[in-house]
Amino acid sequence: MRILIASSEVHPYSKTGGLADMAGALAKYLALAGHRVGVVTPFYAKIPEKFPTLRSSGSSLKLMLGSQEISAEIRTLEPAEGLTIYFIHQPDFFFRASLYQQDGIDYDDNAERFVFFSKCAAHLAQHLDWKPEIMHAHDWQAGLASLLVHHRRTREGWGTAPKTCFTIHNQAYQGNFPAFKFGLTNLPWDYFNHRGVEFYGGMNCLKAAIVYADLITTVSPRYAREIATQAFGHGLDGVLRERQNVLVGILNGVDYDEWKTAGNPFLPHPYSVDSLDGKAQAKRDLQRQYGLPESEQAPLFGTVTRLVDQKGIDIQLSALEEMLAGDMQFVLLGSGDAQYERAFQKLAARHPSKVGVRIGYDHALSHRLEAGCDFYLMPSRFEPCGLNQMYSLRYGTIPIVRATGGLDDSIIDLTEDVDLANGIKFYDYSSRALAKAIRKGLALYGNRELFAHLRTNGMTADFSWERTAERYVEQFQRAAHK
Ligand code: ADP
Repeated sequence: MRILIASSEVHPYSKTGGLADMAGALAKYLALAGHRVGVVTPFYAKIPEKFPTLRSSGSSLKLMLGSQEISAEIRTLEPAEGLTIYFIHQPDFFFRASLYQQDGIDYDDNAERFVFFSKCAAHLAQHLDWKPEIMHAHDWQAGLASLLVHHRRTREGWGTAPKTCFTIHNQAYQGNFPAFKFGLTNLPWDYFNHRGVEFYGGMNCLKAAIVYADLITTVSPRYAREIATQAFGHGLDGVLRERQNVLVGILNGVDYDEWKTAGNPFLPHPYSVDSLDGKAQAKRDLQRQYGLPESEQAPLFGTVTRLVDQKGIDIQLSALEEMLAGDMQFVLLGSGDAQYERAFQKLAARHPSKVGVRIGYDHALSHRLEAGCDFYLMPSRFEPCGLNQMYSLRYGTIPIVRATGGLDDSIIDLTEDVDLANGIKFYDYSSRALAKAIRKGLALYGNRELFAHLRTNGMTADFSWERTAERYVEQFQRAAHK
């Protein structure tokens, strides 16, 4: 098929979270399966540092954004056969210190930046010479692209318009803006009503996509059920229930070319399910790097995360406070809300021989942490898919997760299936339930046979992208032939 993906972040070019991993891997594996794939994404300031050979394609575009005409250059890269990345080079919008916000505050022109980005995606969908059959947009930043294609198909006579697929990576982030920002779309105001893009008087980019996309997917089957309920819907559950006939949950895959324990540039000591010495070495290296005693016996727990409410940081801090009295160590890599960053730094200051904290974003360290730990903690309040629990499985690090969204879909607890168990699950959102799960981890650590059984199950589990990409193609075909 011919598929154009629109995403505001794409690994390895830009990333703040799982969206980047997913968009990058999906594009790569669709192209590997023989499809013609394009990816449209902003050209951020750090991209030319990492990819200095990237040149201008010589093409550009000029689009109206409200009353202003904005131009952008299109830079292209062909990282693999059948795959073209179309970078939107608009330095005023995208050459910033970070992608969406600074010092925890969203850029005040995010509506302008991402309405423009969505317009570029719809424009390419219409003008690329290879004529995409599917435009696959991701998250609110590309949400209006679904509406723009719908508009041109239904009101401007674009007979060969692609079908649109929209993937929700996180229903909590919706792209809400004041009503007047709808003017930036240059679309008729009749779309701005409660059955369209309007949400409590403002413009909601996620809602626009949910209402107008031909097909909606989200990143795990359980999250697909959850977001259509009031408890997880963030106000959009009713809108989703109306579109339930086109909503599908597909669990993300893992790019095992990158997340691997042998031949990985970030892991100096390779290991495998049959030979775990390299993992023991990774643990010692990690303990040393974090200034903790290099003890093989001490069970080492870790987390790599954005430090935001969703990730269950509050219950994690109190459960750790309770559990650190015992013999265990904990390492964190994360950044986000200042109050959580401070709270972890204080925890480390109180327990210098047991807790190590790195505030920041560090891709190489995220691999080393996954490899060096015995257990991975992921006590999310909600979790659309979650990738780190799946990376942990492959790295032989036992995940301890709260049973929500993709965490529930990917982790099997001993109480569910003794033979297939690969991790520890808890249900209540409370520090007490998490502390109990950590206690189970400590008991498991003392039972080497059972520990090895779970670890082997995890390391041999298969969440490969080949299969996931096939599921997307099945859905694209269904949409294309409607
Ligand atoms: P989310 O998208 O909600 O942040 P996911 O689990 O889906 O959560 O994906 C998170 C991705 O971002 C993982 O690849 C994880 O390793 C990475 N990540 C998050 N925080 C950091 C950090 N501080 N340093 C390096 N990688 C990080």
